[in-house]
Amino acid sequence: MKRVLLDQPVVSGIGNIYADESLWAARIHPSTPAQALSTRAVHRLMAEVRGVLQKALSEGGTSFDAQYVNVNGEAGYFAHSLNAYGRTGLPCARCGRPIVRTSFMNRSSHFCARCQRMPRPPALSG
Ligand SMILES: [Zn+2]
Repeated sequence: MKRVLLDQPVVSGIGNIYADESLWAARIHPSTPAQALSTRAVHRLMAEVRGVLQKALSEGGTSFDAQYVNVNGEAGYFAHSLNAYGRTGLPCARCGRPIVRTSFMNRSSHFCARCQRMPRPPALSG
């Protein structure tokens, strides 16, 4: 799902930070196949993307990408309001489980393994 997020024209310009944050907020695992998401889940995710971007803008951001990241690749002043990105090992704001970091498509993904579970594969008939 994260690759789709980063590829989607509708959210083009979304940075890795915002992808992680939006997926966390929507409780969607970064590696969820797009076709495994219900329409409702997609709408929820898009709503969270908008929310995360608006929050970033309200904190003074004018761009959606690297300007929030310092030379060490870590989130800058926006970091205090992040729930997933860069919080490896820190407790999830929702459930308290540590945020985990995985490498995916040459990018790192930060997510809560408890809140953001992979959906079960669709049941096969027969
Ligand atoms: Zn959690």
